[in-house]
Amino acid sequence: MKCGLLGRKLSHSYSPKIHSMLGSYDYVLFEKEPEELEYFLKNGDFSGINVTIPYKKKVIEYLDDLSPAAKEMGAVNTIVRRSDGSLIGHNTDCFGFSSMVKKSGLQVAGKKVLVLGSGGASATASAVLQKMGAHAVIISRSGESNYDNLHIHADASVIVNATPVGMYPDTGISPVNPDLFPKLEGVLDLIYNPARTQLLLDAEKRNLKTENGLWMLVAQAKESAEWFTGQKIPDTRIAEIYSALKSQTENVVLIGMPGCGKSTVGPILAKKMQRRFADADTAVAEKAGISIPEIFEKFGEPGFRELETAVLAELGKQSGLVIATGGGCVTMEQNYPLLHQNGCIFWLQRELSTLSSEGRPLSKSGNPEQMYRIRKSMYQSFADHTVDNNGTAEECAQKICSIWEANL
Ligand code: NAP
Repeated sequence: MKCGLLGRKLSHSYSPKIHSMLGSYDYVLFEKEPEELEYFLKNGDFSGINVTIPYKKKVIEYLDDLSPAAKEMGAVNTIVRRSDGSLIGHNTDCFGFSSMVKKSGLQVAGKKVLVLGSGGASATASAVLQKMGAHAVIISRSGESNYDNLHIHADASVIVNATPVGMYPDTGISPVNPDLFPKLEGVLDLIYNPARTQLLLDAEKRNLKTENGLWMLVAQAKESAEWFTGQKIPDTRIAEIYSALKSQTENVVLIGMPGCGKSTVGPILAKKMQRRFADADTAVAEKAGISIPEIFEKFGEPGFRELETAVLAELGKQSGLVIATGGGCVTMEQNYPLLHQNGCIFWLQRELSTLSSEGRPLSKSGNPEQMYRIRKSMYQSFADHTVDNNGTAEECAQKICSIWEANL
């Protein structure tokens, strides 16, 4: 059985991974230009396909039949070839989004929900929200409700981002500022890469409920797989596949005092977790073309910090890495969202008297107790977890693996 994904640019898609966990069918990426669409749908070698940007509406004219949900949404994300060769279109994003709302724990009935964007995902989200009893308002750059008159919706309880703003690789930007909405209870972002868009990071800062689009992606895929195979798949698979994907895609970030063992534990951990290892200090030296002590000598600490932030911006938005940071990265507040957007941050703690100062200009010139006093609260504010590294590096890596697995 041959299935797959139809779209225009698919290289970053998680769908092949998800479908490999859902069934034993082949799952192929079909990257097509608009003029190839009709021929592909009529003659393509597939029994079932998913459809993504920008073809969810466009495919409808080439189909023989639509399911009630696809008809209602005016969008198709799953097509099945029936035994007589005819094509039927389904919409499994509805199930995916309603499952995401339930996972978030947000109660939307009777509440005002702003849905950002007016594309296919926005139409699906709005229809699902209305069915759940919410008052959904679409915010569109060209609509009656737009980004210049958000104040008329200051009473909104929930925001749903159904725009691509903040998505990899253009991370760090947000379509709205959650602080404009004093009654806000939560933010749902349909984007799943990075795990925390700038919008979700801003919402987290206010302790609001947040959910990214990964759960929706897996839930819609589960229902698609049921249409492909004709066999029911238990809903419990959604959580299992979600956890597996989260584990594969999020970064593990190591912070801590200079010489606490980040660059030693990092490669051991990367090997254990079958990931790539990236050392931020090495990347800074490579970027500058000179060693770290030389950077300090030539540009001073401010010049080094600027280079370091640029390196963390690049590393932090990648997926599935173990990243060892420089000991002072926590002194720059702007490094936190860069590392946290796609990463879980572990603070390695080691007795100050045993810290190595080799090749570390700031450690050599100052005393570690004084540095620790200044930085302690900074490490605390960056860290998701703290790990003792007074034993062997292997033991420390094992502790991180255990915490990681317990938190999936
Ligand atoms: P789409 O049809 O292209 O619609 C996106 C909408 O976003 C546009 O109609 C536009 O609305 C708005 N928009 C686009 N660029 C913008 C910008 N620079 N600033 C502000 N608004 C902008 O795409 P879609 O299929 O609805 O997908 C939207 C997002 O949801 C994508 O990030 C996609 O990856 C995600 N998604 C996730 C899942 C999942 O399973 N997690 C499923 C579907 C979609 P206006 O012109 O009206 O402002």
